[in-house]
Amino acid sequence: MGHVLIQGAELIVTMDDERRELAGADLRLRDGCVAEIGTGLAPEGAEIVRADGCLVTPGLVNTHHHLSQCLTRAVPGAQDALLFGWLKTLYPIWSRFGPEEFRVSALVGLSELALSGCTMSSDHQYLYPNGARLDDTIAAAREVGIRFHATRGAMSIGESKGGLPPDGLVEAEPAILEDCIRVIDAFHDPDPGAMIRVGVAPCSPFTVSPELMRDAALLARDKGVRLHTHLAENDEDIAYSLDRFGCRPGQYAEDLGWTGDDVWHAHCVKLDGREISLFAQSRTGVAHCPCSNCRLGSGIAPVRAMRDAGVRVGLGVDGSASNDGGNLIGEARQAMLLQRVALGADAMSAREALEIATRGGADVLGRPDCGRLAPGMRADLAIWDMSGIEAAGLWDRAAILLAGPNRVRDLFVEGRQVVRDGRIVTHDLGRAVAAQTRIARRLAGL
Ligand SMILES: [Zn+2]
Repeated sequence: MGHVLIQGAELIVTMDDERRELAGADLRLRDGCVAEIGTGLAPEGAEIVRADGCLVTPGLVNTHHHLSQCLTRAVPGAQDALLFGWLKTLYPIWSRFGPEEFRVSALVGLSELALSGCTMSSDHQYLYPNGARLDDTIAAAREVGIRFHATRGAMSIGESKGGLPPDGLVEAEPAILEDCIRVIDAFHDPDPGAMIRVGVAPCSPFTVSPELMRDAALLARDKGVRLHTHLAENDEDIAYSLDRFGCRPGQYAEDLGWTGDDVWHAHCVKLDGREISLFAQSRTGVAHCPCSNCRLGSGIAPVRAMRDAGVRVGLGVDGSASNDGGNLIGEARQAMLLQRVALGADAMSAREALEIATRGGADVLGRPDCGRLAPGMRADLAIWDMSGIEAAGLWDRAAILLAGPNRVRDLFVEGRQVVRDGRIVTHDLGRAVAAQTRIARRLAGL
């Protein structure tokens, strides 16, 4: 495997255990890991990448996405709807997707993330119409070269049984569990440095039965994989839980085995104090999706209270039907701003938001080998050119969330270059974008 020496970075924000920030330092990548960080490192035959005028950070980690939604951005009927109405507008469109839609949208969505500094992403795929399989997005992730935690989502309660999705989009519960086993056995790599992992992820409490939630948790623990779902996203979600289950979402999760350090929940906008304590004590993770929460008017997640209580929090861009983009460095800025809207300018610093976006997300996904730059950690990093207009006049190079570029110059995953000079080098992005545009226009009837 390659040996790369990144030389002369203006600043390296390591996010290591001491949160060191190193000026004028070099960084050696070898065999997929960070081998060495220091000043004046000898070339030793490495490929040299100069980083003058650049900030180097750990690669950002995206803990929640629905990549296929990249095909349904700004759908007119869903532009101004609340969560449940938004879903009901989009379900009929999503039911027309198939394998090619999932593959192409994942190529584009993961590339967009990579260009914004992301080296590892999760995806929550809960729709399997017309022969689509989790295999389609995993193939795309391999092509892009990004570290990928695919989750096998599911919906099983259709409209005729009091659920939200149309009956044609739901699956039978035994078939869901069977396919979870298939994809875990086929793709999940438990080893350190894994490029592909698989999780089990029923879509939400309002689209599957409590029995499936419980069985999914048992299956995931039997297989040693992680659990993921949507939880406590907005007031409608809380009302549904109280009405159908007679309890709040935290209680529902706890009763069905959905708390623990192998579980992470998306959104958690409406967690109350007791639920925050439960998540902290059980080491349950949260994927905070600030742009999506703003876009759907869901509210401001209590991230400050969660972090103060010791809850593990990572960032997610969420699907592109509710964002409507996938820029992870922009998402980190939004996370910082949103806490300030709620609690004041000292509620979250630029450094803390960057920490949530890097090592915070890696910890939520169970990857302590990622999200920080230190010898022995995986060689996942972003190089940001700070000589452009966005950072001109910036006093503090580490404060990239206050002023700085929102696209990387270079990106390395497992020591391999995915972005060079602002362009994806692993696959033909232009062709994927053209295919995506063609498919979206067809879906829209244009
Ligand atoms: Zn979501």
